Amino acid sequence: MRAVARYSLLAVALAIIAVTAVASAGANAALIGSKQEQQIGAQAAAQIESRYGLYTNPSWNRYVQAMGRRIAAQSPRHDIAWHFKILNTGDVNAVSLPGGYIYVFRGLLNFVGRDQGMLAGVIAHEVGHVSAHHQTKMMEREFWTNAALSLLTHGRTQQLASMFSNIYDLHFSRKDEYQADELGVKYASRAGYDPYGLARFLQKLEARYGNGPSGIASYLATHPSNSARVQRVRAYAAQYAR
Ligand SMILES: [Zn+2]
Repeated sequence: MRAVARYSLLAVALAIIAVTAVASAGANAALIGSKQEQQIGAQAAAQIESRYGLYTNPSWNRYVQAMGRRIAAQSPRHDIAWHFKILNTGDVNAVSLPGGYIYVFRGLLNFVGRDQGMLAGVIAHEVGHVSAHHQTKMMEREFWTNAALSLLTHGRTQQLASMFSNIYDLHFSRKDEYQADELGVKYASRAGYDPYGLARFLQKLEARYGNGPSGIASYLATHPSNSARVQRVRAYAAQYAR
């Protein structure tokens, strides 16, 4: 009997440990796992592609995809399948959706011209957002504030995906932008691209569109830039340049 009692006590103790472990894991675990993140991303991608259309030029797509894969290989996120495509709009912009769906705009390709480092810098910044789970954080914040958490458990990804359907309404916090800048510079540099590419892109954008009305350079609307940001990006580049 004594042995049984001891075992019961042990069982109770183990149960308490197990419950505590589950509770603390729950507090830290993301509400949206990578599988659901990719489902949401796929739906948001379909919405954006039907809205803006794809630029399907094969050689440009091969170029952007090869560059994107090379950069994404530097990201610690191997739990998702990365997608790199070109949206058929003349705006100078790029966007990243949950689950690794990254789009550059046709206008961005025109803007950067033959400067490979600039394009790599912009793509790497978007890879940085996905790598740091910024879209997931954005969705989780939205859900906590809307108290609509139950949607998640029912796997209703449509509502989440629609958050990303108007890319001009997407705004990350400044902290997230700086983090994406730093990760972007790191990944671009490690992938063999010019670490100063992103800084050069921001400077060129500022020079051309910084003082004018926000029109064609919608990148400035979704990624507020100023000399402080450029300084920071240059400092990251100096840090990661070999
Ligand atoms: Zn950004």
